Amino acid sequence: MCVFCEIINGNIPSTKVYEDDMMVAFKDLNPVAPVHFLCVPKEHIESANALNEENAKYVSHIFAKIPEIAKSQGIESYRIINNCGSDAGQTVMHLHFHVIGGTELGEKLI
Ligand code: 5GP
Ligand code: ZN
Repeated sequence: MCVFCEIINGNIPSTKVYEDDMMVAFKDLNPVAPVHFLCVPKEHIESANALNEENAKYVSHIFAKIPEIAKSQGIESYRIINNCGSDAGQTVMHLHFHVIGGTELGEKLI
């Protein structure tokens, strides 16, 4: 089972900042900004490449919740990042969206 499925199942501890029946959000183990949490669907979806009309509802739900989760963490300005595939830097093969903020963010690639 992948590390994020283990977190979802409670087998690996995490600092959760939000949870419902479709998603969990928890603090990144190695934060790159003062606020850095990950939004993860409760269904194991490998990456953005594995999205389709059926499971894209998880993405929609996660994006609908990000504003309130971000606000609960004290930020209203933030960057949402998804790394899709190893060349893009994806290391955990379970779809997740990084939300980072709490400082003036550095270099933009796009
Ligand atoms: P990726 O590089 O796949 O886009 O992001 C994976 C993220 O998951 C990394 O930022 C890494 O710090 C985080 N991460 C990996 N393992 C764990 C863990 O066991 N717990 C938590 N909270 N974060 C993790
Ligand atoms: Zn998983």
